[in-house]
Amino acid sequence: MSGSLYIVSAPSGAGKTSLVSKLISQDSRIVVSVSSTTRDMRPGEENGVNYHFLSIEAFNEKIAQGDFLEHAQVFDNFYGTSKSSVEAQLVSGKDVILEIDWQGAQQVRKLMPEAISIFILPPSKDELHKRLTGRGTDSAEIIERRMKDAVSEMSHYNEFDYIVINNNFEIALNELHSIFYATRLTKNKQIAAHKNMIASLLD
Ligand code: 5GP
Repeated sequence: MSGSLYIVSAPSGAGKTSLVSKLISQDSRIVVSVSSTTRDMRPGEENGVNYHFLSIEAFNEKIAQGDFLEHAQVFDNFYGTSKSSVEAQLVSGKDVILEIDWQGAQQVRKLMPEAISIFILPPSKDELHKRLTGRGTDSAEIIERRMKDAVSEMSHYNEFDYIVINNNFEIALNELHSIFYATRLTKNKQIAAHKNMIASLLD
């Protein structure tokens, strides 16, 4: 039985990446799609793990080859999701998470309307500001820019099927996981997973 496709979007500072990585460490049926990007690698990141880091030329070549399920410019860089790798993971029965922005979410929804989309919000603007300030090494100008970018991303919350508010990490994680559990229990998924068992019950 094939897995389900999930879109998870959030402004930077909402805790999306931490929630998703904890979720996949708890549930081996869920995987995250590794996107391609033209942005520079950050300290601690690994090519092929966090992203496939590509030159603009290599990225454009992939667009021309039709390799991307979706792609978008997010602020200053380009990002894209590999079509073949998502399809292979879904066919193998995995639930696949796309950690993408609202533009990518719109493209995927058009192509795969069955995709389940989740938006993660921070609990308040003050808390978001705190989280974006981080270690306090960035200038007020950079933090203001991050806040503006976050508000622009958050303005799309209403396009998503589910909203998770990340105030308490453990609660948000459970709420996120419960969406996956509930989806696996929908009638069509259960019939596909337990066809023979259900048939024998009615025999
Ligand atoms: P970062 O550069 O901080 O890792 O990610 C910046 C933004 O790019 C995040 O909002 C993230 O969701 C988005 N993003 C990451 N990968 C993709 C992708 O493959 N497609 C799209 N449309 N957005 C992406």
